[in-house]
Amino acid sequence: AAAALGRHALSAIAAVRDVVVEHEQELGRLDAIAGDGDHGIGMRRGVEAAVAAAQSAATSDGGASVRRILAAAGEAWSEKAGGTSGALWGTAVIAAGAALGNRDRYTGRDAAAAVEAFASAITTLGQAGPGDKTMVDALLPFRDAFLTEISGGAPVGRALAAAAAAARGAADLTAGLRPLKGRARPLAERSLGHPDPGAVSFALIAERLGRHLEA
Ligand code: ADP
Ligand code: MG
Ligand code: MG
Repeated sequence: AAAALGRHALSAIAAVRDVVVEHEQELGRLDAIAGDGDHGIGMRRGVEAAVAAAQSAATSDGGASVRRILAAAGEAWSEKAGGTSGALWGTAVIAAGAALGNRDRYTGRDAAAAVEAFASAITTLGQAGPGDKTMVDALLPFRDAFLTEISGGAPVGRALAAAAAAARGAADLTAGLRPLKGRARPLAERSLGHPDPGAVSFALIAERLGRHLEA
């Protein structure tokens, strides 16, 4: 059962890879407005390395657990992406895997604990708060909506869909903010009117994972 769940983790990472590849150019253009333009390529490099590492973990001696697959994926993501977002995503994927551990089945509460671990890994490492115009502005509404849905008894798929919608709305709203963290800060005025690239990629990934789980 653990190896079967590992394969689910693997196909989820592959779904993340697909949406990042589809939006690579758009994310790069968004990051070029006030940043260095590498968000698309960085996310692609990171997630492609994550898929490869997850695949080799999953095919090692009978298949690895969710925790081992996500640990391998996160390490590769941080290492190969370069850049701020890669370090944040890699660390957060490892933290989510550590929270999920190696069990035979997972409940909504387990998923909620993984989302909390993912979010606190990012805020602990990046030290960004709400309104700084980073991925945190999409991540925290995502986390809050997910936890609310799970507490209300929603199944994981429905909780994820609601959380993804919250992330999308919040990512769009970052267009009205001036960046206070990260590389975009010196060109803050240029960034006004455009959403934060990391918030947009987070929302895209959340939406794709929501659809992936439903399918
Ligand atoms: P870099 O800025 O190193 O070129 P990327 O372009 O891949 O890295 O990622 C930029 C994104 O990283 C930003 O749009 C923002 O969402 C996110 N980011 C930057 N600094 C932080 C931080 N301290 N905490 C959370 N997210 C951050
Ligand atoms: Mg960049
Ligand atoms: Mg960069």
